[in-house]
Parts: sequence; C-alpha cells; structure tokens
Amino acid sequence: MKKPLIVANWKMNPLTFKKAEDLFKGINKEFKKVEVVVCPPFVFLSSTKTNFSLGAQNCFWEKEGAFSGEISPYQLKSIGCKYVILGHSERRKYFKETNEMVGKKIKKGLEAGLRPILCIGETLKEKNHIADVLKKQMKQSLNGISQKDAEKISIAYEPIWAIGSGHSCPVEEAKSTALLIRKILSGMYSAKKIRILYGGSVNSKNASLYVEKAGLDGLLIGGASLNIKEFLKIIKNISKLYSL
Ligand code: PEP
Repeated sequence: MKKPLIVANWKMNPLTFKKAEDLFKGINKEFKKVEVVVCPPFVFLSSTKTNFSLGAQNCFWEKEGAFSGEISPYQLKSIGCKYVILGHSERRKYFKETNEMVGKKIKKGLEAGLRPILCIGETLKEKNHIADVLKKQMKQSLNGISQKDAEKISIAYEPIWAIGSGHSCPVEEAKSTALLIRKILSGMYSAKKIRILYGGSVNSKNASLYVEKAGLDGLLIGGASLNIKEFLKIIKNISKLYSL
C-alpha cells in the first residue's frame, strides 16, 4: 500500500522569498508514515534537499521553445520536482483551461518523469449530475494515457464549492464520491494503484476523517498549508492513523 499523500498547494502565496523560506523550514520535519508534497509558486521552487517532495502548481504542454512565460515539465524535473498539480479549478476558471489542455499537460508531464495530480470536481449547480461531470473530466483528461502511466497519477477530488470556502464536503458525501471516482476509473484502468485525494477546506479537525472514514488516499490542502502549526497538525493526525 502506498503512503497517503499530503499535498500543500500554496497558490500565489506567500508574497516574499523570506516568508517562503520560513514556511519551508517550518515544514521540513521527518515524515515516516506519509508523503508530504509542497507545491509553492514557481519562483520559490528550489533544488535544496528536503524531507518533503516538491511539486509545481502547473506546467506547459510543450517541452521547450518560444512559449514566453510558460514553464516546461522538463525544467521542473531538472530542479527536483516530483509532482505537478494539473487542472486546478482556479486554472480552469481564470485561464480557461479545458480538459483537452489538461490532458496535453498530463502527457508532457509524464513524459518528463513527473507525477501529475489531476484535479476534478463539480460546481454547486452541477451537483445533481456529478457522475457525468466527473466522468467527462476524467475521460477527456486521461484520454490516451496507458495503464502504466495512469498508475503515476493521483486524482484530487475537489468540489469547487468547497475550495477556500470554509464549507468542506461532508465526509459521507466525500466517501460516496470517492467510490464513484474509483468506479469510473475502473472502467478505464485497473484502478487499485491510483490514489484518490480530497481537497476543499481541509483543516486539522476534519483531515483525518477523510482518510479514516471516507477512505481517501490523501489530501490536497490550500489555505491550511500556509499555517505551519495547522499543517503539521494535519500531518500528525494522518500519521497517527497509520501508527495503530
Ligand atoms: C486547493 O487549493 O486546492 C484547496 C483545496 O484550497 P483550500 O484548502 O483552501 O480549500
């Protein structure tokens, strides 16, 4: 069984290099039971050796060339990045990223040797046809991805209404949606080895419920990952589940 994944998505925070360094130092503990992945903004990615894995929040779908302002997954790999978050709802909303674009990024990321974390999720309005929404996101983004490559991907279920809202998804609902995602994946792959994470207003009080009660394989954490004490508490609570 793979270790649970605890992914910190710093988004466009913090504002200074000094603050990013303080966060890195504060988080850099020894983790035995879980794999911690920190995804800072590109400018704060560094090749310094740490106890956590490094991830990026995006990458481009081409290897190299005249694409001003873009970052190649090969460049990310070369500075020691292991993971890349792709298809985050904020990128879909503000940069009009489509499933097809996300799919191209996943392919190039895999080619470069990165492990993509594919974000999927429904809006409040889409809740009544959630199965169709999630199926479409997965089918279109994973189109043409082999079984071997699919095993390197994690799916992050992030209901859009739960992201940054303080309204986390009820645990029972997360559990049934995780089962639904596993079922959809099983129609595409032998899905046992593919991790399914939950993201959306996770904090130290609810984090372990998603793993223990809803059976998720990890968490994607935005706001709470910028608070060292809170983030370490989340890691501690999840680690405890694996020490019993
Ligand atoms: C996210 O950024 O993917 C996220 C889940 O944010 P938050 O934890 O702040 O809801």
